[in-house]
Amino acid sequence: MPYSDIEKAFNLAAQLLQYQTYFDLTQKLISILKEFHGIEDVTSYEVFGTIAKRSDEISSHTDFLIRRFPLSLDQDYQDRNTPLLNKIIPNIEPGIMTINEDDSDYLVMTLGKEIKPVRVVLVQGEASEQDQVMIRGIYQIYNNQVALLDAKERDPLTRLHNRQTMDLVLNQVLDFYRNKESSDCDAQSWIAILDIDHFKQINDNFGHLYGDEVLLLFSSLMEDVFRYSDFLFRYGGEEFLVIINQTNREGINVALERFRKRVEEYQFPSNRITVSIGYTQLDPSYPMSILLEVADRALYEAKSSGRNRIVHFEPQDNISNTKGDVEWFE
Ligand code: GH3
Ligand code: MG
Ligand code: MG
Repeated sequence: MPYSDIEKAFNLAAQLLQYQTYFDLTQKLISILKEFHGIEDVTSYEVFGTIAKRSDEISSHTDFLIRRFPLSLDQDYQDRNTPLLNKIIPNIEPGIMTINEDDSDYLVMTLGKEIKPVRVVLVQGEASEQDQVMIRGIYQIYNNQVALLDAKERDPLTRLHNRQTMDLVLNQVLDFYRNKESSDCDAQSWIAILDIDHFKQINDNFGHLYGDEVLLLFSSLMEDVFRYSDFLFRYGGEEFLVIINQTNREGINVALERFRKRVEEYQFPSNRITVSIGYTQLDPSYPMSILLEVADRALYEAKSSGRNRIVHFEPQDNISNTKGDVEWFE
């Protein structure tokens, strides 16, 4: 490699090492790769598993839950690369592979399959041999940085984003609505806090390890029931938070009730569990701390009025006012 290339590689590596969040790091990776001669487009994706098909659907391949990253709330999260990704994901391995599809060249960068979600960076275009060497080096650095940032941003047990990351994402969602010109009343975002009922008893009766298993199963139920355009977090011990995007009052009710029921009916290994839920609309005219407090108060109301239920408070409901819509399920 000529000296100037080595210098360039060091420079790019140093740039990547500065970023403290997966979000910023990935944005930077995309912009660095786009600068290479011959590269036409770079897109990053997160793969969450497979889409459950109805039994009457016949298809020769499996569809994956693929979300473009960073996700823009006003765009469809599927894009023109979705069919290509669905085709290649079953055979990808961690590392870089080159493919040619419909007369286009791609470099497919895949981060470790054991990291959840699997991440794929699709680089479209034809880079020179020498640039490909450099891109491989950049991939290695990106890969290592993602592992480090994941340790900071995700909960090690459930692999969901932790509370620290939630603050960042919640602010991004609020900013999105603050900057939006016309507010489309039919598509808002909501926050719901989900707290497992009598979880302490589960630990006391079956032990902490079993308690951990329940938390893990609970988080998989969340991933299963909520749409993958929603954002899931482990908020605290046995409390979880969901940002449910682009839906109206009716949609949020359906989503939360579906989850409440799913938990109630799910056969956990040793016992049944239930969940209480408090939620509110992400009204961008309120600061994040108030919205969290409102959702938390709604949750408290759900607990004190009997558990296994969903309570909604409006952000404008006075904080000291406990009146809310209680949805009873008994
Ligand atoms: P409520 O119905 O009012 O929510 O009652 P609860 O018992 O679920 O709530 P409480 O807040 O009293 O207890 C929460 C328990 O969760 C206490 C704590 O030991 C347990 N916990 C917190 N984090 C973890 C964890 O990571 N693993 C396990 N196994 N238990 C945890
Ligand atoms: Mg609890
Ligand atoms: Mg709790």
